[in-house]
Amino acid sequence: MSLDSSVGKLPFVGSVYIRKLEKLNIETIEDLLHHPPSRYLDYSKITKINRVRVSDTVTIVGEMSAIKNIYAKSGKKIQLANITDDSGTIDIIWFNQPFLSRTIKRGDVLSISGKVDWYNKKPALISPDYESTKSKTKSIHTGRLVPIYPETARVSSKWLRSRINHALDYFKGEFDEYLPEEVLKKLNLYFFNKAINKIHFPDSLTQAENAKKRLAFNELLFLQLRNIYRKKSWQKNNPTHILKTTSDIYKKFTDSLPYSLTNSQQRSVKEIFSDLKKETPMNRLLEGDVGSGKTVVAAATTFVAFTNGYQSIFMAPTQILAQQHFVSLKRIFDKFKVRVSLITSAGIKADLGKTDIFVGTHALIHNKINFDKVALVVIDEQQRFGVKQRACLVKKSKNKKVVPHVLTMTATPIPRSIALTLYGDLDLSTLDELPKGRQKITTWLVPQKKRREAYGWINKQIKKDKVQAFIICPLIEESQVETMKQVRAATAEFKKLQMIFPKLKLGLLHGRQKVKEKDKIMNDFKNKKIDILVSTPVIEVGIDIPNATIMLIETAERFGLAQLHQLRGRVGRGKKKSYCLLFTENYSQKTQGRLNALKKTLSGFELAELDLKLRGPGEAFGTRQHGFAELKIASWQDVELNIAAKKTAEEVMKNRKKYAKLIQKLEGKDIVLN
Ligand code: ADP
Ligand code: MG
Repeated sequence: MSLDSSVGKLPFVGSVYIRKLEKLNIETIEDLLHHPPSRYLDYSKITKINRVRVSDTVTIVGEMSAIKNIYAKSGKKIQLANITDDSGTIDIIWFNQPFLSRTIKRGDVLSISGKVDWYNKKPALISPDYESTKSKTKSIHTGRLVPIYPETARVSSKWLRSRINHALDYFKGEFDEYLPEEVLKKLNLYFFNKAINKIHFPDSLTQAENAKKRLAFNELLFLQLRNIYRKKSWQKNNPTHILKTTSDIYKKFTDSLPYSLTNSQQRSVKEIFSDLKKETPMNRLLEGDVGSGKTVVAAATTFVAFTNGYQSIFMAPTQILAQQHFVSLKRIFDKFKVRVSLITSAGIKADLGKTDIFVGTHALIHNKINFDKVALVVIDEQQRFGVKQRACLVKKSKNKKVVPHVLTMTATPIPRSIALTLYGDLDLSTLDELPKGRQKITTWLVPQKKRREAYGWINKQIKKDKVQAFIICPLIEESQVETMKQVRAATAEFKKLQMIFPKLKLGLLHGRQKVKEKDKIMNDFKNKKIDILVSTPVIEVGIDIPNATIMLIETAERFGLAQLHQLRGRVGRGKKKSYCLLFTENYSQKTQGRLNALKKTLSGFELAELDLKLRGPGEAFGTRQHGFAELKIASWQDVELNIAAKKTAEEVMKNRKKYAKLIQKLEGKDIVLN
C-alpha cells in the first residue's frame, strides 16, 4: 500500500464506500489523508465519575459493570449500561443499538466521551462516543481532541476517523518531506509528516491550526505550480503570426472612436499590444465590470490582426449576445474596410475568405474556419475562462503547434488576489473604471409591506416615461442549468404579474424556451413591444437595452452581491435615470447589511471583495462555476499564505536542484516542469 493506492486497499473500504468517497473527491489514500476535519470536539478532559456535572462535556474511563436492553413504551430499544471507576458509577444510555450488549462485555474498560444530561433524575451520558481502551495505542474517538469531518455523502465522522487512523498507523513516520527544511523554517511551517498526523489527531487546537497551515500551503503551492505548468505548455505553442503593433495602428483606431478611451482601457490595450508582438501566443484575461467597455478593447485587438492581414474570431455565449457584438463591431469598424460576419447556427453564411472578423457563439471554434489565417480568438463571458477552448485550439493545430492569440473576457469581478492564484496561467488586464458620464443607478431595498406601492410606482414610470423594466423571478434553487422547478416558478410569477399589470405588455424569458422563441422575445423587448420582461435568474440578459431603466430582483438575499451587481448592470445604459429594486423578506441584520452594501457601492470589485469576506468564495461567485471548489484545505481569505505559495512556486522554477523532491512529487500528479 502506498499513498497513491486506491482507498479500496484499506480494510473495510468496499465498493459502496469507494463510491461514497469519490463524491468527496477522495480516490487515493493520499486524498483521504488530505481530507481535513471541519472542527474538533474537545473530549480531552478526563473526569472522575463523582465529579461529573450536568451539561459538561466530559470523558470518563471506567469498567463496564452492567449492560442491558430495555424496551421503552415508544417501541424504542434502549441500551442502559453502568460504568464504574474508583470514584463512583454512572448510567450510560444508547438508543436502538441492541448489538452493543453483544460487542461490549462486562469487565471491559471503556473510554466514553459526551455531554452529561439528566436521565431518571440522575446525571448520565446519553448517546456518547466510546471506545475500548484494550489493545489500542491511542484513543481516536474519545479522551482527546476528536476530529469532526463534514458529514456529506453519507460518510460518518466516526467511520472516516477510524479509516484515517488505520492509514496513519500503516505509514507511521513514512511521509517523506518534499520541501527543503530551510523553506519550512522560513515560512514557519510544520514538516509534512507532522502536519498530516496532527491535522487529524492534534494535541491542541494550535497544533491543529499549524498542521492545517502546512497542508493549505501544499495545496496552494501545487495550484501555483500547475498554473506555471499550464502557462509553459501554452507557451510551447507558436503564435500563428507575430503581429506588428505600431503606435500608428493604435492612433488610427482610437481616432476613429466617438469617445476617448478610459485610462484602464488604454492600459489594457497596451498590455495586449505588447503580447501580440511576442513569439509566444497571447493568453490574457480581460476582467472588467459590466459596462466598463470591454468590447472596444477587444475590437482594438481585432484591428491589429486586420491591419496585419489576418482574420479574427469573436465568440459570445449566446446567439443574442453574438448578434449584439456583431452590431457593435460593425459600428466601430464603420470607417474601415473591416468585414464583419455573423455566423449563425444555420451555418456559415459569410464567404470564409472574404471576412475579417467572424462573430458567433462558442460553437464557432468547432466550425470549418481555416485556422491558418486566424491570428486572434476573442472569448467573451466564458466560465472557467476558455480552458476548454484553448485545449481545442491546440488540438486543431495538431503537431504544428501553431495557435492564435487568445483574449478571454469576463464581467465577473474576481478580486485580483484570487485571480492571480486561480488563473495564474493567464495574464490579467483589469478595467477598474467606468467611462465618464455614466449615470449612477439608484438602488432600493423593498420590504414586503411596500410591495404593492413599488408595483404601482413601476406602472406609473412605464406609462409616464415610456421606459421598460426587468423583473427577475425568485431564485428557487441555486443551479447553473435551469431546473424545471425554476421554470414553473417563473411561469407562475409571470401569470401573477400579468394580473398586477393588466394594462402593460409582459414577456417571459426562461432557459427551456427554444432559441428562436428567446430571440423573438428579446427582440420584441428591444423594439419596445414589451414593457416588462419577466426572466428567470439564470437567463442571459446581457443584452444592451438603453430604454430599460428599472431592474426588480425578487428574493435578493439569495444572490451573491457580485451577481446582483451584474443584474443591476442591465439598466442604466441609456440617458434616463435608472433604478434597481431589491425585494426581500429577510430582515436579519446580516442580510440587510449585505444588501445595503449594494445601495452604497457601485463598484463590482468592491462588492466582490465584500462578498468574499461575508460569504466566502463558494457562495460569492457560485462554487463550481469558477472552480473555487478546488480548494479543500486552504482558503482564499488567507492572502499571506497565497502570496508565500506564489513566491515559493517562482523559486522552484529558478532553483530546481533545491526542490528536486518536490519536482519528483509533482510528476506523480502529472505536473511536469521543464
Ligand atoms: P462591457 O464591458 O460590459 O462589455 P461594453 O463594451 O458593452 O461593456 O460597453 C458599454 C458601453 O460603453 C457601450 O455602449 C460602449 O460604446 C460604451 N463605451 C465603451 N468605452 C467607452 C468610453 N471610453 N467612453 C464612453 N463610452 C464608452
Ligand atoms: Mg460585454
